Amino acid sequence: MTEREKLINIWDSIKLRIKNENRDISAVAFDTWIRPLKVGKIENGTVYLLVPPEHAGDGTGINIIKKNYSSLFKVTISESMNNIYEIEFIEEDPSEDYSNDSSNIVMEEEPSAIYQSNLNEKYTFDTFVVGPNNQLAVSAAKAVVERPGLVYNPLFLYGGPGLGKTHLMHAIGASIIKKDPTKIVSYVTSENFTNEVIGYIQKGDIQKLRDKYRSVDVLLLDDVQFIIGKESTQNEFFNSFNELHSQNKAIILSSDKPPKDLEILDERLRSRFEWGLTVDITPPDYETRMAILRQYATNQLGFEVKDEVIQYIASNISSNIRELEGALNKVSARKSLYNEEINVSIAEEAIKDMLKESEPRKITPEIIISEVAKYYEITKEAIISKKRPKNVVYPRQICMYLCRELTDTSFDEIGKAIGGKDHATVMHGYNIIKDDLSTNPSLRDDIEKLKKKIIPGQ
Ligand code: ADP
Ligand code: MG
Repeated sequence: MTEREKLINIWDSIKLRIKNENRDISAVAFDTWIRPLKVGKIENGTVYLLVPPEHAGDGTGINIIKKNYSSLFKVTISESMNNIYEIEFIEEDPSEDYSNDSSNIVMEEEPSAIYQSNLNEKYTFDTFVVGPNNQLAVSAAKAVVERPGLVYNPLFLYGGPGLGKTHLMHAIGASIIKKDPTKIVSYVTSENFTNEVIGYIQKGDIQKLRDKYRSVDVLLLDDVQFIIGKESTQNEFFNSFNELHSQNKAIILSSDKPPKDLEILDERLRSRFEWGLTVDITPPDYETRMAILRQYATNQLGFEVKDEVIQYIASNISSNIRELEGALNKVSARKSLYNEEINVSIAEEAIKDMLKESEPRKITPEIIISEVAKYYEITKEAIISKKRPKNVVYPRQICMYLCRELTDTSFDEIGKAIGGKDHATVMHGYNIIKDDLSTNPSLRDDIEKLKKKIIPGQ
C-alpha cells in the first residue's frame, strides 16, 4: 500500500490518540477543528491535511488549526507512520481527487492495536423496554451515562441469557459517545478479549494491548464469566481494571452470575467487581414481554402484529427475550410466505417446535376469553366490556368460571382481565356456572368442548 493508504487506515485512531493524550483539548475544539480533518496527499515528506471549506473560514480556521495543532499532528503522525513528516493544512477542494497522489509505497504492516468501539447501533435505550425486571439496571445504566466513571464504577450487570445485558451495554456506550463525541468507548466480549491477550502474548507484543485498553474512557466487557480460569487474561484485565479505575474511567461488566457466585475467579478481581454497583436483570413479566414484542414488531419487523398473536407468544415463551423475538420472526416469516393475516393458529403452528414438551402452553385469562368469544361467535371486546346484553352475559360468566378452574388466578385478577369487574361479580358468575353445570347437560357439553380448545393436547 502507499503511505497515504496507510495513513488513511490509521487516521481515526491518530485523531483519537491526539485527543486522548491532550486533556486540554476540549470536546468542542476537538469536534470543530480536529474531527473534520481528512488526509489529502503526501508529497516529498509532507502530509497535506484537508480542512473542509466550512471550517477553513477564509484562512482564519486554518490558522487556528496550524497554530494549535501542527506540532501535535507532526509528532503523532510521524510516530504512528514510523517516518518523519512535515504537516501542511490546506482548504479542501471538493473537485480535486487526492487519491491520485504519488506517495511512496510502504510495506504492508499489521495494524497496531487500533481503537474500535464495536458498538452495535441497533441496541439503544430507545428500543429497550423497561419493566420491573430491569428497571434498576436501566436506572443504573443511565446514571453511568450521565457521569461515567464517577458513579457505580464498575457497574456489574448480571442475569440469565437473552435478558438484555448486551443490549444495555451497547446502549450505555452509544449514549456516552452521543453526549460527548470525544469519549473513547470500547465494547469487547470476554471471548475476544481473551483471544486478543493470547494473540499479543504470542507476538510478544502485550504492551500494545495494554496501551489499547488503558487509553479508553469507557470499557465495556461483556460476559466476564468467560475469563474465569484463564490466568493470563485475568491478569491482564486485573491490571487494566486498576489503571482505568484509578483514573476514574468507566468500567461496565456483565455476567451470568453475581460476582460472589463466580467460582474460581481470582479473589482480587471478585472484590473489585463489587466495588461499584451490582444489579441483576430477571426474566420479564407478562406485561413486559408483551411490550417487548410490540416494540420489536413495530421497530424491527415494521408491521403491526395482532394482539392475540402477541399474547399467545408472550404467554408461551417466558424466560428468554431472544426466544421471544425468534418466535415473532418465525411467525412473521409465515406472513411473508403466505401473505395472510397472522392469527393464533398460524402462530401456534409456527412456533410449536420452540415450545418444549416440559413447558406446556400456559393458560391465561386472555386465551380463555379468546376461545370463549370464538365459541359463542361474539367479540372479545364484548366480553370485557361493561355492557350486559343477554348473549354476552352468560359467555362472560363462563369465562369467569373457566379462569377460576383452569388458572391459578385470583377472583380479583380474573376481574381485571375481564375488563375490570370486581371480586363479587366474578365470584357470582363463577357460582352461577357451577350450579348450572349440575342441571344443564348442554352447558356441560359446551364446557367440555371449550376446555379441549383451551388446554393443548386434550
Ligand atoms: P443477554 O446479553 O442478556 O444474553 P441480549 O442483550 O443479547 O441478552 O438480548 C437478547 C435480545 O433481546 C436482543 O435482541 C435484545 O435487543 C432483546 N432485548 C433484551 N431485553 C430487551 C428489552 N428490555 N427491550 C427490548 N429488547 C430487549
Ligand atoms: Mg450477551
